[in-house]
Amino acid sequence: MTITGEMLIDGEAVTGNGDAFYALNPTTGAQMEPAFRSGGVTDVARACELGRQAFNLYRNTSLETRAALLESIASNLEAAGNELVERAMAETGLARPRLEGELARTARQLRMFAGVVRKGHWLNATLDSASGAAPDLRMRMIALGPVAVFGASNFPLAFSVAGGDTASALAAACPVIVKAHPAHPGTSEIAGRAIQAAVASAGLPHGVFSMLVDHGHAIGEELVRHSAIKAVGFTGSRSGGIALSRIAANRPEPIPVYAEMSSTNPVFLLPGALRAGGVQLATGFADSLTASAGQFCTNPGLVLAIAGADTDAWKLAVSAAIVGRPAATMLTPGIHAAYEAGIARLDGMHGVRRLAHGVTPASSCQARAALYETTADAFLADKQIQNEVFGPSSVIVICRDSAHMLAVAQALEGQLTATVHAELQVDAALAQLLLSCLELKAGRVLINGFPTGVEVCHAMVHGGPFPSTSDGRTTSVGAGAIDRFLRPVCYQNVPDSWLPEALQDANPLNLWRLKDGERVNG
Ligand code: NAP
Repeated sequence: MTITGEMLIDGEAVTGNGDAFYALNPTTGAQMEPAFRSGGVTDVARACELGRQAFNLYRNTSLETRAALLESIASNLEAAGNELVERAMAETGLARPRLEGELARTARQLRMFAGVVRKGHWLNATLDSASGAAPDLRMRMIALGPVAVFGASNFPLAFSVAGGDTASALAAACPVIVKAHPAHPGTSEIAGRAIQAAVASAGLPHGVFSMLVDHGHAIGEELVRHSAIKAVGFTGSRSGGIALSRIAANRPEPIPVYAEMSSTNPVFLLPGALRAGGVQLATGFADSLTASAGQFCTNPGLVLAIAGADTDAWKLAVSAAIVGRPAATMLTPGIHAAYEAGIARLDGMHGVRRLAHGVTPASSCQARAALYETTADAFLADKQIQNEVFGPSSVIVICRDSAHMLAVAQALEGQLTATVHAELQVDAALAQLLLSCLELKAGRVLINGFPTGVEVCHAMVHGGPFPSTSDGRTTSVGAGAIDRFLRPVCYQNVPDSWLPEALQDANPLNLWRLKDGERVNG
């Protein structure tokens, strides 16, 4: 497929009237063809109005139609496979195996949502029979309306144009308007065309999917302001997520913003675990820290351990593992500059000491891994140490004893993940105290694993209290992500034949429903 540098609106490719910009290959520093032209406010208005019109038809399509659309997008992405992966490699510097895995995951995610749509549990069909003076009341979830999606730079496929936000919004029957990430515009166009083709072959209105292009904030801000948009999905920086949340809250009609932002993903190393397997833990940790240049939202940026000989041995082992790690290309010069500024800040911080550096970079967009050490007292005295440094850096916080470790846990900001390494007998008491604290801090708590690697499944929570996300009640990965784009409606004394199928007496969709308080298939 020829990448043209255009936006995707109304079933067509549309050239923007704004400034031209180019994708940059972060490995070579070279600009890549073609030029992408930014859109303007008229493009935003057109895409949003088409989304508004499409919503009325799309939301009333059958579950099967929407499931088939998601499957068709997955197949189209797979058909674009090698081209998509090669363009993404060039635009992001990420390695082929990583991107091939990400493509497979993106397709799997779309197919999982197809299954979710067909099963219909998300409709939450609930029926309360009339009784005495109480009326007949029936409830189901319905779609919010058109959703604006902002893709992330670090997952050009799975968290971008055809990623989890788009899949879950389309599953919920919401049209999607994507603002493509300027760090991978060509990848975005290929994925966007795969969606556009699937919408067209399903005979659905063009406004079900649009993609806008920009390399600044204007289009994104305008999109969030547009009255047709009813919710926003975002993955990226804390500043970006907060800025878009403010715009959404200040609209005449405020709308929800589901922004996944920043997390340091603390890893607690308990004494029994360090004694039992310190060296293997050091290698596993170094792998988790440095994979894809540390550019994971679940990267372990904070480690907590109690002072002692086993902790000292672990520090030596992990330092040795980090020293040998090659430097790796980051996604963009901007992200690289932010990483350099982040580790310079840690280098200059009172009470923080550098333990190890990875191999010196050979080119300007490469990051070297960095490992720091501080004390729990210094950590508790300076909140800045908690700030995410996006990339392969981590701070080990040394605690005096268990109580000190719990005090640090209690002082943590909201996190996507929190991990405890524990020997199941020796560390049981402290591990359970930590779990009780950490479930209030994080969306996912892990025992004896590493936080990188997020399964796409029904029980996954990829979310957490602020600042990991703007709304800790939800998840952006897994089947539960569909709930972000739904709201409940109750139907009181509505005649059976006027009710939506999900709520009709005969249960034509064959759903599991909550009937007078009991879960029944009928
Ligand atoms: P970003 O700068 O927040 O950008 C994400 C998307 O939002 C881009 O399309 C960007 O458009 C747009 N955007 C950002 N701020 C905006 C604003 N104020 N108004 C309107 N649109 C806005 O994130 P990024 O480029 O992916 O990475 C930058 C930093 O984000 C990283 O260094 C890292 O700290 C963090 N990050 C976190 C995660 C995570 O999973 N938590 C993932 C990736 C990155 P433009 O680029 O065109 O402005």
